[in-house]
Amino acid sequence: MSLATPLVRRVCDHPGTIRSVGSSLRTSSPGVVSYKLAKQRVVDAVLDGRKDRLDVCDAQSELQRVARHHAVELSEPCPICEADELVMVTFAFGVGLPRGGRCVTDLREMQQLRRRGRPTRGFRVEVCRACWWNHLRESFPIDDVARRRLLS
Ligand SMILES: [Zn+2]
Repeated sequence: MSLATPLVRRVCDHPGTIRSVGSSLRTSSPGVVSYKLAKQRVVDAVLDGRKDRLDVCDAQSELQRVARHHAVELSEPCPICEADELVMVTFAFGVGLPRGGRCVTDLREMQQLRRRGRPTRGFRVEVCRACWWNHLRESFPIDDVARRRLLS
């Protein structure tokens, strides 16, 4: 099972979105990719009826489980239902990790991933536990090898 696939597919469904996201990136550090504009396009499409709400409130059961037990509160209302505040979960994908990614639950685990010296990328996903809206927020390099490559 791949948790990232549907999330990434949602962004990749609109190639122009990726271009517009890439051309207007405001990143806090090298290699960080924000999906804020892609999210706004999806939210706008739902709010004006071009996209069905069920197509975006579709968190898989594993994502729901992680959102219930290993999430960080964001203090932002859900852009779809506004009934609950969003939470954020982080997954790591890379060489030697499970195909569906590994949920990163704390700083110690993130540091272990960083030190393993293998290409690893993190994906932060926002989730609403009321309607199961979910969207990729950002991706970022975890491994020091990738960070050094970006900085050189
Ligand atoms: Zn919601």
